Amino acid sequence: MKTIDLRSDTVTRPTAAMRAAMAAAEVGDDVYGEDPTVNLLERRAAELSGHEAALFVSSGTQGNLLALLSHCQRGDEYIVGQLAHSYRSEGGGAAALGGIQPQPIEQEPDGRLDLDRVEQAVKPVDFHYARTRLICLENTWRGMVAPLDYLQQARRLADRHGLALHLDGARVFNATVKLGIEPRQMTALFDSLSFCLSKGLGAPVGSMLCGSEALIGRARRWRKVVGGGMRQAGVLAAAGLFALDQHIERLGEDHDNAARLARGLAAAGPVDTAVAPVETNMVFARVPEPRREAYLAFMADRGIRLGRGSPMRLVTHLDISADDVDYVVESTREFFH
Ligand SMILES: *Cc1c(COP(=O)(O)O)cnc(C)c1O
Repeated sequence: MKTIDLRSDTVTRPTAAMRAAMAAAEVGDDVYGEDPTVNLLERRAAELSGHEAALFVSSGTQGNLLALLSHCQRGDEYIVGQLAHSYRSEGGGAAALGGIQPQPIEQEPDGRLDLDRVEQAVKPVDFHYARTRLICLENTWRGMVAPLDYLQQARRLADRHGLALHLDGARVFNATVKLGIEPRQMTALFDSLSFCLSKGLGAPVGSMLCGSEALIGRARRWRKVVGGGMRQAGVLAAAGLFALDQHIERLGEDHDNAARLARGLAAAGPVDTAVAPVETNMVFARVPEPRREAYLAFMADRGIRLGRGSPMRLVTHLDISADDVDYVVESTREFFH
C-alpha cells in the first residue's frame, strides 16, 4: 500500500533525477574548500539570496545556531518570537554554546512580532543589561507569509537601533513563490538567512546559511567547532543544487494542493479547517475530539499519516499529488458517513 505522509514536508525522498545528480557529483574535501559541488551550491545560494556568501550546513538548526554564534558574543541577546523555532525548538543551543540570551516576544496570531513591542524590548546601552544585538524573524510561520512591507519595517527598526536582522527562512521559498517575487527581494533585507533544502525543496539533507563574507567566515569556523565540517559533501550538495534548480517554482503546486485539501476536508465531514488561513503548504484542521483517535487510526489503516497534534498539522509536499489529496478527502468522507 502506498503511504501518504502529511505530517511534514521533511519526509520527501530524493527523486530518481535528484539521485542521478547526486551519483554524478564531482567531490573533494570540503574542509579544505576543495569540493567543487559544495562550492557551486554555496555560490548559487549566495546569488539567489542576494548575499555575498553562503555556507552549506547540516540542518536548519545548525544554520540558525551558527548565525546566532556569528552575530552575537557571550552576554549579548537576540529578540525572537515566543514560539519561533530558533528559540523554542532548537534545544537552547545559542545559550548552551554561546552564552547568548534570548528575549522572547509574544507573537501575533499570524506569527509576526509587533514591531512596537520589539522596539520596547531593545535594551538601553547600560552595563545592567544584556546587549541587544539581533532580531530573529521566521517566514513562513505555520505556513503563513509575512509580507514584504512588514519585513522592510523590521529592517528599518533594526537599522535605527544598530541591530542585525536574521531570517529563519526554513521555508522562505514557499513565501516568495506565494508572493510571486524574486527570492532576493525578501532575503536581501536580512543580514543573514537560513533556509532548508530538506523540506519542500526535497533534498535529503542540508540547509544554507547566507550572509556577508565576514559573517560566513565566522560561521564556517563555528561549523567546524560544532563538528559540522564535512568532507566529500558534494554528494549532498548536488541534491541541494538540483533542488534549487528544479523544485522552487513547483512549490506553488503544494500550495494548490493544500488549498484543495482544506476545501475537501471541510466538505467531507465535521472537520474545521478554518483554524488558520491556508497560505502555503500547511493546513491546520480540528476533528471533533471524541473521534480524533479513531479517525487517525482509520486513516492510518489506509496508509495516510497525519500530524498527531490538535489542531493537527497537514503538510503538502513533493510526494503528495492532487490524486493523493482526493484520496485523503474521500477516506475522511468514508469515516464520517
Ligand atoms: C525545520 C525548521 C528549522 C530547523 O530545521 P532542521 O533541519 O529540522 O534542523 C528551523 N526553523 C523552522 C521554522 C523550521 O521549520
